[in-house]
Amino acid sequence: MRNKRILILGGTGLARLAADSLVAQGAHVTTSLAGVTRQPHLPEGHLRVGGFGGAEGLAEFLNDAKIELVIDATHPFAAQISANAAAAAGRVPLLRLEPKAWLPQSYDVWVNCASIAEAVQLLPPNAIAAVTVGRKEVGAFFARGDLSGIARMIEPTAALVPKNWRMILQRPPFTVETESALLRGDHIEFLVSKNAGGARVAKLDAAAQLAIPVVMIARPLKPPVPTFHGLEELLGSLN
Ligand code: NAP
Repeated sequence: MRNKRILILGGTGLARLAADSLVAQGAHVTTSLAGVTRQPHLPEGHLRVGGFGGAEGLAEFLNDAKIELVIDATHPFAAQISANAAAAAGRVPLLRLEPKAWLPQSYDVWVNCASIAEAVQLLPPNAIAAVTVGRKEVGAFFARGDLSGIARMIEPTAALVPKNWRMILQRPPFTVETESALLRGDHIEFLVSKNAGGARVAKLDAAAQLAIPVVMIARPLKPPVPTFHGLEELLGSLN
């Protein structure tokens, strides 16, 4: 691992942990961030920020920086950058690091759907929803004029927030107590979530306790590359 030149496509907690571990093992690690979060938690090692300019730009970067291994540790819903990585990698080995999807427990009430568009359509007329899908896609819910509720995200959305919606800017982690208080306080009838996966998060437990149905959006398909669901597993494969 010593001095191995590794590019980590990041923007997730798992990517940061991978960078920290690989730097500790002596690898030459560069983490790439899209540059959408104003004050990201920074990983150990080198950092580059901003798009590469599509798959071609990424291929050029891999060549110029003499990258020997790419770890795609981007969010399971970041489909474009993963497609670009698969197209650009060529002879450079590419691994994916992403948490396992959440599975519903016996006490959960989930309405599964395949996309944001489907989630928007699933909500009944005049539903009051807590939408936690990130700033890029929340506008699709605003566009349905009869819906209202809360839209929580880390960075503000570029979409115009209608007056029947309350935008909350917060960064996880959250507790079941605060999540329950939020859902109860705003009389939420549906929670909308992407299946980000990993450790089960408090909003799911809060919704289950309050018998609030969760509209759970499945992950987009990504190109088939060797995938690891945990850091130890990935590190084990490299040594
Ligand atoms: P995306 O739709 O897959 O990518 C859009 C474009 O952003 C890519 O084509 C690429 O631009 C650039 N990009 C994305 N990730 C990058 C990275 N790590 N380094 C350099 N450029 C990157 O991505 P997204 O859904 O907007 O997500 C952006 C970032 O936020 C990702 O890094 C992801 O890990 C993180 N994130 C996303 C979500 C989510 O729900 N989507 C949630 C949490 C964190 P070029 O084509 O110009 O290279």
